[in-house]
Amino acid sequence: MSTTTTELPLLIEEVECVGVERLSPTFVRVELASPALADLGVDGPFYDQRIKLIFAEPGHPLPSVAGVDETWFASWLDRPVAERGHMRTYTLRALRGSGADTRLVVDFVVHGGDCGPGGSWGAQAQVGDRLVLMAPRRGHAYGGVEFVPGDATSLLLVGDETAVPAVAAVLEQLDVDARGHVFLEVPYAADVLTLQHPVGVNVRWLPREGATRGEALHAAVLEHLGTGPVPRVVDDDEVDPDLWETPAYSSSGEDVDTTAQVVGHDFDGLYAWIAGESKVVTGLRRALVKDLGIDRHQVAFMGYWRLGVAMRS
Ligand SMILES: Cc1cc2nc3c(=O)[nH]c(=O)nc-3n(C[C@H](O)[C@H](O)[C@H](O)COP(=O)(O)OP(=O)(O)OC[C@H]3O[C@@H](n4cnc5c(N)ncnc54)[C@H](O)[C@@H]3O)c2cc1C
Repeated sequence: MSTTTTELPLLIEEVECVGVERLSPTFVRVELASPALADLGVDGPFYDQRIKLIFAEPGHPLPSVAGVDETWFASWLDRPVAERGHMRTYTLRALRGSGADTRLVVDFVVHGGDCGPGGSWGAQAQVGDRLVLMAPRRGHAYGGVEFVPGDATSLLLVGDETAVPAVAAVLEQLDVDARGHVFLEVPYAADVLTLQHPVGVNVRWLPREGATRGEALHAAVLEHLGTGPVPRVVDDDEVDPDLWETPAYSSSGEDVDTTAQVVGHDFDGLYAWIAGESKVVTGLRRALVKDLGIDRHQVAFMGYWRLGVAMRS
């Protein structure tokens, strides 16, 4: 196994799959291990901490990360796919064990149809398979936690199957007196998982069972917010596959005033975190910000993936 220099402010390490569990038709839970995971950590809760995984191009070896330095990412991008493999974004679902025996849990969504290197790897994962992991190193700023509720008194967490690992991790780490509502759309009723959450948080699962993606989620969220039906009209060419609008960052380049105070409207105290397929998230963004007037400082909207589009490495 390769071990990188401890000088780097993040972990870039080869990890080995040491456990695979099929949780449901759509979720495969994988445990990844390396002695280097002893150094994995963040300053505060992990919440929805994102990580990067690199999958080898089929028939080719994993890219070597032995002795990498800060210039590695730029040179990695310049290499042919057969050499560099494919990088995708996942969620740190949980950590198990400690020290050199730490295992990192990742829940992979597996799905039929058009499938990329990440989903294919998850569907076929076996003990002994290897990946490259990029993750936060304890004591260094890394970013990648978007769940920032501040002093919100009411939480709204909304996601599709790709956001279930993040929402599940956030719920486990909330204060016991947290209050709020969670809406999770998943492909099948058999994908409903048992989640640990505060008693004041209501979790509602919405199995799609073949219906149009996002339809049930959109309707349930708007009903919860007390509006009449707001149509979900988003044209494909209006969807930014990299949609990322948080109180601190805007992928569309909208001004973000991080000092603004939000007062005097119906949604005082609300903090909403919404992630999933970009078109579905765009529809919710339009409804919440444009139609309902919810201040964007109270909402994080994140396109986790885009139907028909391979995520960029
Ligand atoms: C911050 C963040 C955290 C994430 N956490 C997780 C996580 O914990 N677990 C997880 O499984 N995913 C997670 N995702 C989503 C994941 O990165 C994308 O689904 C990604 O596209 C998967 O890569 P791929 O190689 O399978 O497919 P790609 O090569 O990106 O795409 C190939 C094809 O597969 C389709 N596709 C991709 N994902 C799906 C899907 N879920 N359902 C149906 N079709 C799909 C695409 O539309 C495309 O047509 C996360 C994304 C972000 C940004």
